[in-house]
Amino acid sequence: MKILVINCGSSSLKYQLIDTDGEQVMAKGLVERIGIEGSLITHQTDGQKIQKETDIPDHKVGIKLVVDALLSPEHGALTSLDEIKAVGHRVVHGGEKFANSVIINDEVMATLHECAGLAPLHNPANIIGIEACQSLLPDVPQVAVFDTAFHQTMPPKAYIYGLPYEYYEKYGVRRYGFHGTSHKYVSLRAAKMLKKPLNELKVVTCHLGNGSSITAVKGGQSMDTSLGLGTISGTIMGTRSGDVDPAVIPYLMEQADLSASEINDILYKKSGLLGISGVSSDARDVEAAANEGNKRAKLALDILCYLTRKYIGAYAAAMGGLDAVVFTAGIGENSTTIRAQICQGLEFLGAKMDAEKNNTRGKEVDVATTDSTVRILVIPTNEELMIAQDTAELVARG
Ligand code: ADP
Repeated sequence: MKILVINCGSSSLKYQLIDTDGEQVMAKGLVERIGIEGSLITHQTDGQKIQKETDIPDHKVGIKLVVDALLSPEHGALTSLDEIKAVGHRVVHGGEKFANSVIINDEVMATLHECAGLAPLHNPANIIGIEACQSLLPDVPQVAVFDTAFHQTMPPKAYIYGLPYEYYEKYGVRRYGFHGTSHKYVSLRAAKMLKKPLNELKVVTCHLGNGSSITAVKGGQSMDTSLGLGTISGTIMGTRSGDVDPAVIPYLMEQADLSASEINDILYKKSGLLGISGVSSDARDVEAAANEGNKRAKLALDILCYLTRKYIGAYAAAMGGLDAVVFTAGIGENSTTIRAQICQGLEFLGAKMDAEKNNTRGKEVDVATTDSTVRILVIPTNEELMIAQDTAELVARG
């Protein structure tokens, strides 16, 4: 089934046309700088890549360009729009309302608007993308696939914070978790690689990219995850702080005379690898600086690896065992040194890494030694394919 997958940000829009039958990407691309000067579309199909700078004042114009590119006789992938059976949208926050992907109707749209307050940077853009597709492809079913949905299986003991309970009831303050589509995809792939039913496995999935989260997946269900109400907690990220003692926040606000939005900016944009190293938010730059002897760059990487290892240990304890650790996303798929450093010291759990096998990038590989009782898997994530598969399944069910 041919599914158009849309991931809409506030000024950009990524898309893929996927044929779920052969798991084949027929075309993909990126619309950038929507509503800003210098807007452009980059479209790729069959080894061809075309780039066109043109005026893109809003998302509707952006999606019209995507549709035109897909239908183009020179570099398109479709002869008629009727071939698109559904559009799958990545939606960041589904609150507590959505534990699964859903076909979008008026009621779903109303709920998405209600959830917008929980993800003010992301959900409004996702809604705009859905509305633009609805008006350009009115007869095609639209499906929402949520970053939070996979984590709705967490038990209350994992998602309730130690705050007065009324804040959960009144304001929805709780752990939601993110990157759910990625954690779900890699745990399904892990079961395939291990040739075992997912419902019998205890897996810790480490999604380590610009944004990172670690999840305890027991029997195929998320039972705890390191991100929370927002996308700051857990291990340190490119520019986000990871776990900090909440006491730091009012203290710093008073000491440095910072407003709530200024401290928010520091936690989201000036912390993590960038904040500690002072070099860059990009793990490759930080690794290069550390190799040249930059102490703060080395410290930033040490903290990333240490916190990730602590989460793996904590989640093994939470699940009462561990069958596999999965590494995915930009850092997890590519950085042999960070993976090795995270796994140093996990031998007591039965997880032993084979240094030679670990010398791999961007492919599905089991990098544990043959006698390791816990498997260590590198699995490239594929959120777009997961979104397309969820969408196709829902539409086929009708
Ligand atoms: P996003 O969260 O934006 O999707 P990605 O999953 O693409 O991010 O991850 C981006 C991160 O992956 C960056 O920190 C980048 O440095 C890191 N990364 C990509 N390739 C490598 C590599 N070969 N070695 C180390 N880090 C890498």
